[in-house]
Amino acid sequence: MNPRPPLKPLSQALAQLLAAVEPLNATEQVATLDADGRVLAQDVVSALHVPPQDNSSMDGYALRCADVPQVGTLLPQSQRIAAGMGAKPLEAGTLARIFTGAPLPPGADAVVMQEDCTVQDAADGAVPSVRVNVLPQHGQWIRRAGEDVARGDVVLARGIRLGPAELGQAAGVGMGSLQVLRRVRVALFSTGDELVMPGDCAPADMPPGAIYNSNRFFLVSLLRRLGCEVSDLGIVPDQRAATVEALRNAAHTHDLIVTSGGVSVGEEDHIKPAVQALGSLDLWQIAIKPGKPFAHGRIGWAHFVGLPGNPVSSFVTFLLLVRPLLRKLQGVSQSGLGDPGGVPTRADFDWPRADKRQEFVRVRRNAQGGLDVFPNQSSGVLTSLVWGDGLVNLAPGQTVARGEMVAYLGFAELLT
Ligand code: AMP
Ligand code: MG
Repeated sequence: MNPRPPLKPLSQALAQLLAAVEPLNATEQVATLDADGRVLAQDVVSALHVPPQDNSSMDGYALRCADVPQVGTLLPQSQRIAAGMGAKPLEAGTLARIFTGAPLPPGADAVVMQEDCTVQDAADGAVPSVRVNVLPQHGQWIRRAGEDVARGDVVLARGIRLGPAELGQAAGVGMGSLQVLRRVRVALFSTGDELVMPGDCAPADMPPGAIYNSNRFFLVSLLRRLGCEVSDLGIVPDQRAATVEALRNAAHTHDLIVTSGGVSVGEEDHIKPAVQALGSLDLWQIAIKPGKPFAHGRIGWAHFVGLPGNPVSSFVTFLLLVRPLLRKLQGVSQSGLGDPGGVPTRADFDWPRADKRQEFVRVRRNAQGGLDVFPNQSSGVLTSLVWGDGLVNLAPGQTVARGEMVAYLGFAELLT
């Protein structure tokens, strides 16, 4: 028997995987309102100052500090400026009623909030006067033109993924539509003759040996959350010819093919030979737990990724390997192409049995800011992912004693 080749360490596998990925370059114009989650294909440069002019950040009175030499000075009101109106220059020795967001009248150098003023009752038709009960400070309650964004600033850089804050920023500088990269087209297959779709068969009627197809559901969700256009191509039977046929067809019209299951070394695992028959398999088996049976290859232009069948392995390898691949394909400017690392966090558990492989342990943060561990770390136990909110990234051979700091990867961050 041939000696088994050593499993590839995760950081090496990631480097190799990403070196093989060229970002898509096709772009499309989408309405800013519909651009959530898309990847920006242009720098957004502001054509104006934000705010466009000096304006008030309070409801109150705009004045010149020099006109208020002492607390209690009484000044006549010479104009009233609401948001959306223009302002005339401020007459000397007067103040202007002003509201939040209204432009500052030229000549004014401070705003006093209305809580610090008393309006004097004026006779009918007379100009109201206002007593200023504080000594105003130069510049107070004024938002300066361009203090947020100056004309010519790059407010959003090409390659970022657009989220709520970015969409607001784009709108704030007048962008009604944005140039974004086209969505990555992903074909998804599940393999396994034991798989039954929920809804097709009631639990009480499940044939012997059958299980529900759970991977399909979280993989569709993960792919969609990462902004992919998913063709969910159902279940491929555990047969060589059917597997080859399904992969061949999908490769013509997709950027990425993702399969789950069938990528181990059993006689019922047809993925590996099928990919080798159609293209090339460049990466197979990674030194991680869970998730050893991971494969990457090419079929024509399409990338191929084979995920393990065990649900937790499938989920974890998606987060650790498919997500970085997708982000690069999508043109997301990369940060950290190697080991995913993690945020140093206190382990409130012992982990006495080290593994030879790099291990990703399902944990969740507790109210004390530490991490609790799920008792059953078996790679089939989806309950561990529902209970947990992240993974601890343990180096090969690493044990943990309660109280030590470990590298924590939150699921929330891995889902963007
Ligand atoms: P395989 O990698 O095909 O040998 O599958 C490994 C284990 O994962 C087996 O117990 C399968 O029944 C299970 N499995 C494979 N695919 C799925 C799926 N889509 N949903 C749930 N379990 C699966
Ligand atoms: Mg199988």
